[in-house]
Amino acid sequence: MLPEHKHFINGTWVASRESITVVNPSDCTEIAKIARGGRTEIDAAVTAAQAAIDGEWGRLTGEERGRLMYKFAELVRRDTDKLAAIESRDVGKPLSVAKSDAAVCARYFEYYAGAADKLHGETIPFQNGFSVMTIYEPHGVTGHIVPWNYPLQMTGRSIAPALAVGNAIVLKPAEDTSLSALALAELFREAGFPAGSVNVVTGLGEEAGAALTSHPGISHISFTGSPEVGTLVQEAAAKNVIPVTLELGGKSPQIVFADADMDDAATTIVRGITYNAGQTCSAGSRALIEASIYDSFTQELANRFEKVTVGAGNQDLDLGPVVNKAQKERIEGFIELAKKDGLPILAQGKMGSNAPENGYYVTPTLIGDVPPDHPLAQQEIFGPVLVAIRMKDEEDAARIANGTPYGLAAGIWTRDIGRAMRLSANVKSGQVFINNYGAGGGVELPFGGMKASGHGREKGFEALYAFATLKTVVIKHGN
Ligand code: NAD
Repeated sequence: MLPEHKHFINGTWVASRESITVVNPSDCTEIAKIARGGRTEIDAAVTAAQAAIDGEWGRLTGEERGRLMYKFAELVRRDTDKLAAIESRDVGKPLSVAKSDAAVCARYFEYYAGAADKLHGETIPFQNGFSVMTIYEPHGVTGHIVPWNYPLQMTGRSIAPALAVGNAIVLKPAEDTSLSALALAELFREAGFPAGSVNVVTGLGEEAGAALTSHPGISHISFTGSPEVGTLVQEAAAKNVIPVTLELGGKSPQIVFADADMDDAATTIVRGITYNAGQTCSAGSRALIEASIYDSFTQELANRFEKVTVGAGNQDLDLGPVVNKAQKERIEGFIELAKKDGLPILAQGKMGSNAPENGYYVTPTLIGDVPPDHPLAQQEIFGPVLVAIRMKDEEDAARIANGTPYGLAAGIWTRDIGRAMRLSANVKSGQVFINNYGAGGGVELPFGGMKASGHGREKGFEALYAFATLKTVVIKHGN
């Protein structure tokens, strides 16, 4: 008998008639069932969240919310091994990656716990006899739709700032990877969060997800996932005239000039595209390499690719499988297209000797001489596939870097700081890393897209403003 999980609504566990079977992508075994929620469960969760705002949760001060959030972070750290084991089985990630994700989840709560009593407005000089102040208030009930690539991290990233401001939340995790969100729900209860302040409804995107985004009782929606669904989410939000934060992935360039530190650049770039099996929205998936070092640098990349080893999550190798069959087929389709179009496969990683036979494994692949307008250089592959592109100079680099619909992150590798600064100004992306990439998670660093990568900023203090609405109070008191 598989464990059967319920929704977490109003502080209690609530069942649905139907369920979804959850598969471990490392060996394709069935590991659990989650409840398949829809409009009824979302409605109950939104009602509970509103009641929490009208009740105990809404009366807490920022300091008190912060204390609850610190307590929750402590519990996440206490349960790191347990959460990591759940995440590794559910997503397929190596155990050490899953442990790091649990630590980052805790870190989001610590960061925003400290910020919960620091979001304050201003006083504004106005006419004689008046005083004016601005006040940040929570939106109310906020909806959060989280994808499957970093469930623990993304749950923390999305809901911690919302809770810090005083919103009550309804979370819809991805149907493939809901187990860690359900484990976190139990920790919210243990930490003492009032009933209804945090609700988790599991189910399919087109059912529970769509019911959440179109619900008239929510006042903000935060979505991370594909541009196609992001557009649907924004359409639904427009009908209810509510703000959205959209993070829709990218095709981020790693721009390497001849004067760069080759060893550092190659090591970071290969790790950046193979970490989490390349299923990272900000993965540097295009290497733009100055023509004079193209051959030597792709050789450096190839040497590293060949050492990367793939295996089951619990074998804790460099990377695990991808999340599901559809993703595996999609990524392999891109590799087939490269072969069909005569693009050279410069290197591939290897399968670990004891990797299970059944599992959604994709061998990391480096593809050379990819024209900048080829689908492999334009579309988000969302797997461990790096495309190498020749570029002539700084101007060419900017043109190619900006030549996709996306604009999430960019890496610039050069010892010429003037060039790095000029290029960082010319690249259209929400984050730019110079001689580093990803900066270790960077909970403190505002993150989000330009162009088709979305809008709104998560992470850092900036994220708090997305979850707050500003009220201006004008007082006439006379002189
Ligand atoms: P998706 O956009 O379909 O799913 C992401 C989340 O949205 C899930 O929680 C899902 O349940 C929900 N969802 C799906 N349909 C919905 C709807 N109609 N209304 C509301 N919510 C809905 O992503 P996917 O199909 O799982 O992956 C497809 C591609 O999306 C990937 O190959 C990748 O390119 C991209 N992706 C990007 C990110 C990212 O971090 N930016 C994450 C996951 C996937």
